[in-house]
Amino acid sequence: MKGKDILNEISSTSSGEFYTPIPEGYKAGKTKYVIITGSVMSGVGKGTISSSLCKCLQDRGLKVEPIKLEAYLNVDSGTLNPYRHGEVFVLDDGYETDLDLGTYERMLDKNLTRDHFVTSGRIYQTIIEKERAGKYLGRDVQFIPHVTGEIKSIVRNMAMKSKADIISIEIGGTVGDYENMFALEALRELQYEEGRENVCFVNITYIMEPKSLGEQKSKAAQLGIKRLIAMGIQPDIIVCRSQSKLKQNIREKISLNTNVPLDRVIGVHNVENIYSLPLTLRESGFDQRILEIFEMDKKFKANGNSGLKEWVKNTSVTSSKDPIVVGIAGKYTEGGDAYISILKALEHCSFALNHRVEVKWIESTKIEKDQIKVDEAIKGVDGIIVPGGFGSRGVEGKIKVAQYCRENNIPYLGLCLGFQIALIEFARNVLKLEDANSTEFEPKAKHPVVDLLPEQMDIEGLGGNMRLGGRNVEVKEGTIASRIFNKAKSVRRRFRHRFECNPDYIKQFEENGIVFSGKAPKQPIMQILEVPSLKFLMASQFHPELTSRPRHPDEMFLEFVKNCAKK
Ligand code: GLN
Repeated sequence: MKGKDILNEISSTSSGEFYTPIPEGYKAGKTKYVIITGSVMSGVGKGTISSSLCKCLQDRGLKVEPIKLEAYLNVDSGTLNPYRHGEVFVLDDGYETDLDLGTYERMLDKNLTRDHFVTSGRIYQTIIEKERAGKYLGRDVQFIPHVTGEIKSIVRNMAMKSKADIISIEIGGTVGDYENMFALEALRELQYEEGRENVCFVNITYIMEPKSLGEQKSKAAQLGIKRLIAMGIQPDIIVCRSQSKLKQNIREKISLNTNVPLDRVIGVHNVENIYSLPLTLRESGFDQRILEIFEMDKKFKANGNSGLKEWVKNTSVTSSKDPIVVGIAGKYTEGGDAYISILKALEHCSFALNHRVEVKWIESTKIEKDQIKVDEAIKGVDGIIVPGGFGSRGVEGKIKVAQYCRENNIPYLGLCLGFQIALIEFARNVLKLEDANSTEFEPKAKHPVVDLLPEQMDIEGLGGNMRLGGRNVEVKEGTIASRIFNKAKSVRRRFRHRFECNPDYIKQFEENGIVFSGKAPKQPIMQILEVPSLKFLMASQFHPELTSRPRHPDEMFLEFVKNCAKK
């Protein structure tokens, strides 16, 4: 029986055991699904491989939509600590996700939405809301079929809405985690209902190579994959991540133990440049095997690999010039993942300029506590980025860094909190408002140069007063901003903040050398500042790093890095 017949049968059953709400007009087989799971351990690049696969499929002309199913119970990633979990990535629609969505957006060069990121918390929230509204018509609400049904609904609705050829669904965590069991079960059901010809399971596993043995070992991978099989899921393709190239005997062992033919056991060993991964996957036959399973390989041919080769060429640096050194003065400096989009945006500039950029981490709390002197801490850097952040820890250290940059004409790029830091520093040391501060750090500041805006104070009591997501920024003519944005009157950027430049001080700032070159349309909310008398001092209330893409570096970052390169 083919998927479309199974689905017909299920939709015509009036008893509720299947509980599969199928969207109006939905047809099995119109959209195919690739489901990506991990085994053995996390952190082996599941997100990168998944997004690279999407890139390969996109390169063949398919319309691909990625979904990340995240196991945690948070409704979104907004409250997650970046030090533990990596940066919070904000989408244009204002949804706060984890950093994987950034990887997808950059790889596919496309804006994603809240439909592309689904946490278990959000699924439960939907179900509980439905239950309270009496939508389950007196039934007891259960994991199966209701939670699993909700997941199937989400992916089918995405299929209807997007008309994608393929939806790739990445399941967070690894097989065997309690948290993602029901997601796996839901997708097993999806395969049963849609038919094997329309749903393909990929497992990304890890082949160990203990130093003491000096050879690859496949047992952990075999056990991990068997666990998937025990749940009724037969993987169609296995990707073996490993330190060194996958050995043939290991490929054979994996194949024999998991019922997966040899040519569908794909080896991916460590690569230096992750941007070359799509090409590596293409050359190993990964996307070809998937399209063969879906019988789409004749319609969507690879037509050579020129597109992916071009991509690799445009995402690498060939010059051996001394690198540009950029200091990042933050407080999560031990975990680079907390600032991953900034690192990526710098990398995008290095591609455009064919000049390597190196990062030096500057721990602002150490400067604040006088454990290190500012000039000592930033010695050897060509420019400084003060990134976004919340809370007062490290703020005074960042203010000292900003002062040192301005006084010594070192390029300074401020991002969100870095914009506010530039204002506080300027107010204290140029406007001579000695105790200028943000009311986030000093609620009773005598000169609250950074403050909540009145309309935000009104909604504060209700919570959720953060300005989030993509908004248009009006660019002032004749400014540096206008020049680098190619005279565009408005640009769209992403925000995530509560505090802003206090309008009462705008005039004073302007009279003393700050130009506000970007603002919110029709509102006195300042969003870009520049000091044209200096080599480079620019800052934005938005996060330009979130929309920088490998082939289109953000303009402010690019101008900053160019200035860092000028000795
Ligand atoms: N804490 C500041 C605010 O809420 C800056 C936020 C940020 O840098 N993302 O406005």
